[in-house]
Amino acid sequence: MVDLYEYIVDVPDFPEPGIVFKDITPLLASPEAFLQAVDEMADPFLASSIDIVVGIESRGFLLAGSIAERIGSGVGLVRKPGKLPRDTVAVTYELEYGTDTLEIHADAFSDGARVLIVDDVLATGGTLAASKDLIEKAGGVVVGATMLLELSFLNGREKFNGPLHANLVY
Ligand code: AMP
Repeated sequence: MVDLYEYIVDVPDFPEPGIVFKDITPLLASPEAFLQAVDEMADPFLASSIDIVVGIESRGFLLAGSIAERIGSGVGLVRKPGKLPRDTVAVTYELEYGTDTLEIHADAFSDGARVLIVDDVLATGGTLAASKDLIEKAGGVVVGATMLLELSFLNGREKFNGPLHANLVY
């Protein structure tokens, strides 16, 4: 076992002043840390009959594939606007300044598909809440969410009702 906290690097004032960016690339680059992280992210949902693991662009994608392999499910993509080539459904949500939009293929799920959401960082929870809305709009059932790390002082967890796992809590 390794201490995963040692593989996360704080980058002050990125991408703008006042934000401490959690850089996960050292964790991704370490075979021991990466495998341990995806094991720990998958474990709470191994018995949850997940049909599809959905990664949120873009660091969520890196984790979602390996978690899906452990769970024995497929993988789906929540993407920024204009990236998906066929019919999509979209949600637009509020940011601190302005709005953001996420898309998924309209036929991403068979009706009632059981979905696990994967992302690297839970911050304010806006992205996770919007992804849940989007998945439900496309006919999926959100069973839970699994994150590499949670910035608990931002209370993002309050925006998501359902099982929510985070490996590392700050
Ligand atoms: P939020 O919607 O505020 O929960 O933000 C979540 C999304 O923004 C995730 O997809 C993260 O990749 C990214 N993010 C937000 N805050 C940070 C941070 N401090 N360090 C790294 N990524 C972040």
